[in-house]
Amino acid sequence: MFAFEKLLVPLLSGLYLEQLGRKWRLGSYAEMVARTITRKAATIATINECKEFGVDLVRISTHDPTCELCAPLQRKVFSLSGKDKRYPKYDGDRVRIPVHPNCRHVLMPYVRELDPNAEMKHKSIAILH
Ligand SMILES: [Zn+2]
Repeated sequence: MFAFEKLLVPLLSGLYLEQLGRKWRLGSYAEMVARTITRKAATIATINECKEFGVDLVRISTHDPTCELCAPLQRKVFSLSGKDKRYPKYDGDRVRIPVHPNCRHVLMPYVRELDPNAEMKHKSIAILH
């Protein structure tokens, strides 16, 4: 551990701040911000790569356990363009990844032809329309 870390870590670990309706240890808040911004950047990068390679469908990752906000969205497939009417459009207004601070979910390219359960996913998404 460097000298400045020996000095800073105890100093920062004792500090708190009020954000998002709760009291955060400064270190925990910094981790949450970094984790959430990383997820936002990963989402933007996935969308850009999919568009560049002509992939229109994306799927939300799965994590267990998850929260009540994310549970209904896990494994769901979306159309980036909105042209594939079998799936809802990923517009960033109704559904946005990350869903909340500290959310672990990411968007992944989805190739329907490689998914043996594609028909089931297609039917389960109807509840979001
Ligand atoms: Zn999540």
